[in-house]
Amino acid sequence: MVSSIVKPIVINSDRLLKSIEDLAKIGHLSDGGVCRIAFTPEDLAARNLIQSWMIETGMSVRIDTAGNMIGTYQGKYPQASTLSTGSHIDTVPNGGRYDGAYGVLAGIEVVRVLHEADIRLNHSIEVIVFADEESTMIGSKAMVGKIVNDPNYYTHVDGRDIQTCLEYIGGNWHKIDQARRTNQEMAAFVELHVEQGPVLESMDKKIGVVQGIVGQRRYVITVTGHSSHAGSTPMNMRSDALVAASLIILAVNRIGNTPGQQVATVGKMQVSPNAPNVIPGIVEMSLDIRDLSNEHLDHLMAELIQEIEAIATRTQTQIKLEPCLRNEPAPAASNIQQTIAKICEDFGFSYTYLPSRASHDAQEMANLTDMGMIFVPSIAGISHAQTEYTSPEQCVEGANVLLHTFLRLDQHYSIL
Ligand SMILES: [Zn+2]
Repeated sequence: MVSSIVKPIVINSDRLLKSIEDLAKIGHLSDGGVCRIAFTPEDLAARNLIQSWMIETGMSVRIDTAGNMIGTYQGKYPQASTLSTGSHIDTVPNGGRYDGAYGVLAGIEVVRVLHEADIRLNHSIEVIVFADEESTMIGSKAMVGKIVNDPNYYTHVDGRDIQTCLEYIGGNWHKIDQARRTNQEMAAFVELHVEQGPVLESMDKKIGVVQGIVGQRRYVITVTGHSSHAGSTPMNMRSDALVAASLIILAVNRIGNTPGQQVATVGKMQVSPNAPNVIPGIVEMSLDIRDLSNEHLDHLMAELIQEIEAIATRTQTQIKLEPCLRNEPAPAASNIQQTIAKICEDFGFSYTYLPSRASHDAQEMANLTDMGMIFVPSIAGISHAQTEYTSPEQCVEGANVLLHTFLRLDQHYSIL
């Protein structure tokens, strides 16, 4: 009996790593970081380079009205829905070279490998460069029809209006509705990204199978007590808003530390009158709480509100809690999670399931189609900084998982 071992198709690691190097030269900072803010000359130069690479790789490229660059590698059945990937190449002012860029470049590398081997999948593959992920996420939001109908909302930090910005990269604010996609067009969207957190490294895992992007709720908490003289008001006759606020911070922290994957933070606080000799009369503070499950968030908030009521009684203060932001959780499709996990097992890559607690374009795409995300480790959990680092081996492993995710999803989704 003859047994043959078929070597799985893999990405070209040198080529992937070189493209990460080459893209990082655009907007390169002397400290090793990258500054490529959306709608700037650096962003445009990077997009042009990506476009030329897509064309060299046998993809057709279009820019939609929201400024998303979409490269398509046609499948055997062009009428079938697409398998899409992508991320962003804009950065924060002092960003690193992996956040976003890695996902786009790995997507292009996946197509390069297929093109080189003359392989066409049943579905066309799309590699998407989303517009302005780091600030407004206008690109992915436009694709799912979640644009704020007020151009001023999107005014650039440098003062340019959104039409000027979009025109600069080939989009058009006045026709932004045309960027909207349907789930008939896209079978699935999978984003490969650096974790931007310390979990994978601390668990010594190579791959993160993302369970979804957490829901986020933000509140303004206002504590009202009585301002009075810090010297002449006896301790038992005070209504100190900052003491109450401090107890709230401890309650938030305690709830964040109960069993579960939630995180809860008070990150901002304003004390009034904020003077050394006056008992604080008013404190305004933020609360940010995130979890994958809305039910769990409801439960935690109910518990916290009960504690806050007790704190108000105990400190003789009034406490008001007002919601100011609510992003719904975006669960990853279970078939995509299972596919990624199975590939890790086949390749012998250690992996863990974990939520994404940062925003990504994928969270918007979950409104449209089956969504999945693959994480690779971020050394020391650092991101949005010049010290952001993922090793060459980790970059290559993640790209191989993306390649094989596409090969398997191509079989999973029907071509009708
Ligand atoms: Zn990113």
